[in-house]
Amino acid sequence: MKEIAITDKQKYFDDHFPFEEKPELFDKKRCLHCDNVFYVGDFKVFKNKSGDEFICCPNAPECDGTVIDWFPAD
Ligand SMILES: [Zn+2]
Repeated sequence: MKEIAITDKQKYFDDHFPFEEKPELFDKKRCLHCDNVFYVGDFKVFKNKSGDEFICCPNAPECDGTVIDWFPAD
């Protein structure tokens, strides 16, 4: 997967967040894969060979967690 630079993170998040209850960019989440706590706004975006884009853990590519692996930090 290839990382994509996102200039407007709020807009990207609004357009691509897959679930109904969208967190704010300043909310903290815990990634189930790497167990780190981070701000939602630090997300990274990666694109696979088919052109699908994924909202990923800020620790990607070391961590393979994506937005579905994020849980409330406390
Ligand atoms: Zn992670």
